[in-house]
Amino acid sequence: GLTNKLQNAFRNLRGKGKISEADLRATMREIRLALLDADVNFSVVRDFVKKVQAKANGENVLEGLNPAQQIIKIVDDELTQMMGEETTSLIKAPKIPTIIMMVGLQGAGKTTTVGKLANRLKNDDNARPLLIAADVYRPAAIEQLQQIGNQINVPVFDEGTNVDPVKIVEDGLKQAKENHNDYVFIDTAGRLQIDEKLMKELQNIKEVANPTDILLVVDAMTGQNAVNTAEGFNDALDLTGVILTKLDGDTRGGAALSIKAVTGKPILYTGQGEKMNDLDVFHPDRMASRILGMGDVLSLVEKTQKNVDEKKAKELTEKIKENSFNFDDFLDQLQQIQNMGPLKDIIGMIPGMANNPALKNVNMDPKDLEKIKAIIYSMTNEERENPDVLNPSRRRRIARGSAQPIQNVNRLIKQFDQMKKMMNQVSNGNMSGMQNMMEA
Ligand code: GDP
Ligand code: MG
Repeated sequence: GLTNKLQNAFRNLRGKGKISEADLRATMREIRLALLDADVNFSVVRDFVKKVQAKANGENVLEGLNPAQQIIKIVDDELTQMMGEETTSLIKAPKIPTIIMMVGLQGAGKTTTVGKLANRLKNDDNARPLLIAADVYRPAAIEQLQQIGNQINVPVFDEGTNVDPVKIVEDGLKQAKENHNDYVFIDTAGRLQIDEKLMKELQNIKEVANPTDILLVVDAMTGQNAVNTAEGFNDALDLTGVILTKLDGDTRGGAALSIKAVTGKPILYTGQGEKMNDLDVFHPDRMASRILGMGDVLSLVEKTQKNVDEKKAKELTEKIKENSFNFDDFLDQLQQIQNMGPLKDIIGMIPGMANNPALKNVNMDPKDLEKIKAIIYSMTNEERENPDVLNPSRRRRIARGSAQPIQNVNRLIKQFDQMKKMMNQVSNGNMSGMQNMMEA
């Protein structure tokens, strides 16, 4: 399988002190073939290989790893990135009910997954879902949903097979409102292949239901077809996410790898069996590790990463204590913040900060980060290390160099000074300094 082939691809790098271009090329070729063989979309593979190669030719990723381990880390990072990087969850509608419309080809697992999701919400969130049976083309489909409803103790709304599905959905939603159901799942019909009539019907249902989420259920076993299906459904319905079923079987993983890259829509859950609790939240990083199948190397990478981060954090604390925090450190921090995610989330991790009302206003636009970086890049080394020398004429030069208005340069320097003061106060055990800053 894919995992085996990827492992083989890395074999010729093992034990090498330095990796030659030819070695890297041979490895990348094997990785490319392995991914194509696993039904990963052609252009996705091409992009992937390009990115890995560029990173591998760049500087060392992490000191403390040998070259082969470095490449494995890069491949793991890029696989994760390809699948969406972060875990995506269902959204809750501001007003009940949250309406989740399930679509997909026949046999993909829609009806089963409706049951699994409703069951999960009921158990975890005390939710009171209603399931709407909108697949009228197969009498057995309604019966199947009723059985599932019985099993998980969740009500099912149906009007038999002689009513227009759009009408059924309207009536079902009416009932959900009367009964104050907080979630509604619409179990729609599928076909063996995408056709116009099915899409039209789904579009009509979408129009009357105005669903919070439209989730596509795809069978991972169908490989490349799963990706084509996802593209087709996404074009017609603008999906919000994907659920990949039957990952418990002998799947090649290719579908998981390409869906996000091709459709831009994340995978939210995976089906791992036929039973009602065989549903897992999808974690791109764990999936990447599973595909790579190199638990040992990856946990080493993680440990090294942690050591490096700890070392950096310690250095930073020292600098703050010595009051020698400068623009280079600031740039470093910005880079890390960019790698980590929204500033709000990061500040939220500081003990005592999570519930700070001032946090509501903290939002950093990535574009602002780019402007800040441009300004710092326009400083000389001397200016970065010793911001005290930044007199008006230097500031004007920096403004010109970074194509930013002088006000932005002044503001950044002022903010930097404030930040430095604040850090000093925090490191001297005075949290109120931080508090003041946050509320300013
Ligand atoms: P639908 O036509 O899209 O509604 O698909 P169903 O929900 O009826 O599922 C079709 C078949 O796939 C059923 O036999 C399910 O039990 C099975 N199935 C659904 N999800 C999974 C899964 O994650 N793993 C496995 N092994 N089987 C599944
Ligand atoms: Mg069904």
